[in-house]
Amino acid sequence: MKAHDGMYIDGAWRPAAGRDTIAVVNPADEQVIAEVPAGGAEDVDAAVRAARAALPAWAATAPAERAARIAALRDVLVARKDEIAETVTAELGAPLPFSQAVHAGVPILVAGSYAGLAASYAFEEKVGNSTVYAEPVGVVGAITPWNYPLHQIVAKVAPALAAGCTIVLKPAEDTPLTAQLFAEAVHEAGVPAGVFNLVTGLGPVAGQALAEHEGVDLVSFTGSTAVGRKIGATAGAAVKRVALELGGKSANVILPSADLAKAVGVGVANVMGNSGQTCSAWTRMLVHTSQYDEAVALAAEAAAKYGDRIGPLVNAKQHARVRGYIERGVAEGARLVAGGPEAPREQGYFVSPTVFADVTPEMTVAQEEIFGPVVSLIRYEDEDDALRIANGTVYGLAGAVWAGDEAEAVAFARRMDTGQVDINGGRFNPLAPFGGYKQSGVGRELGSHGLAEYLQTKSLQF
Ligand code: NAP
Ligand code: MG
Repeated sequence: MKAHDGMYIDGAWRPAAGRDTIAVVNPADEQVIAEVPAGGAEDVDAAVRAARAALPAWAATAPAERAARIAALRDVLVARKDEIAETVTAELGAPLPFSQAVHAGVPILVAGSYAGLAASYAFEEKVGNSTVYAEPVGVVGAITPWNYPLHQIVAKVAPALAAGCTIVLKPAEDTPLTAQLFAEAVHEAGVPAGVFNLVTGLGPVAGQALAEHEGVDLVSFTGSTAVGRKIGATAGAAVKRVALELGGKSANVILPSADLAKAVGVGVANVMGNSGQTCSAWTRMLVHTSQYDEAVALAAEAAAKYGDRIGPLVNAKQHARVRGYIERGVAEGARLVAGGPEAPREQGYFVSPTVFADVTPEMTVAQEEIFGPVVSLIRYEDEDDALRIANGTVYGLAGAVWAGDEAEAVAFARRMDTGQVDINGGRFNPLAPFGGYKQSGVGRELGSHGLAEYLQTKSLQF
């Protein structure tokens, strides 16, 4: 795999200040495939200075010019689609067809949506005797996770570019090659030097230095709630803007009037895709008591069919963590009907598609984010009971409702404390705001709501 031995700062690949490196491991066979530099505070500082220096000129460009650069970036991603998919497969482990369709495909859609929004957004409006301007927040520190390595980057960088912000990105240590490929794409797209900068490195070193840097105006973070909480506190102390996309424990609510087989099948696939490493995955399936046994049988069958089409987890730590959760589920009395804690292969960080029945709402597997291919079936007595269970976690990121007609599903969805709900298997919309209620986060990504995160308003009175 191709790897740069430097940081992308001020439009060029520069040597890192220190000599530390990160070994990139292919989780399917545990082999080291590349090494990248592990940056520190000095590298972060150089990147923030470059972003700060580039800010006035980039902030002053016409929105149409920013739209053209984002459209060019989208075109480079299209041209390099296969390379992106191969890189994500190599460092994350996702099966190649999934990498092509989702890991490469979705960022192309999102970049395209921001090329459109940059051109059409009302950066200026009249309110009575005032003119209100939407101006860029400034220098953005973006910290991203490994689960959707390119999507998480594009969901921050594209709207930041559209807004007129400049950026320093610290990607996840597990997936730096995708981030380096993205930096090449930004360069090829003709984005001016210093507007986008990349510092690879470890979270508690480079990530923390970026979050704490006084030259950063907005920290946009996606990852665990534990780290998000710290970053929010740091930003609050410095009176900095912050956006947090954190964990989830989303409910898939199947109402008695729904097409049960379809709801269960789509629900299981939703969790197993990306090996369960999706913050918005519907990891709790809520089924009416009258249909519960049938749903359990359908879910077990769907998981078994998934079998060896599932990729590994990203690293040894997640492998141990997810298997630990499965053991905990068994210990707390949940009933395994598919999969289990045993590693299905000798090599690679694989976990079998796992289904738990007889899960009660307070069990650990029903409360904590597992981030693996594990779905828990919970029984409910009536709609109010279902709502209590659906809303009964600290999270509120996503969810699904299935019913015989849309109006019934919508009525239930409106009572859920969560940021995004798919109705009867609704399709992904790159323009729909994505983000959490409660401890799932602060702020929204995607579409015009995602763009607004990178803007601040100024009003002139006449
Ligand atoms: P994480 O530590 O929160 O990682 C997210 C990003 O934050 C990475 O770039 C990470 O760098 C960085 N980071 C870590 N500590 C930091 C600090 N003190 N200051 C600034 N940045 C820091 O998540 P993880 O350890 O990869 O995964 C653990 C759990 O988080 C998962 O099991 C899952 O439950 C959850 N998670 C959620 C999402 C999501 O999309 N909401 C994504 C990934 C994980 P490093 O890569 O060097 O750690
Ligand atoms: Mg970490």
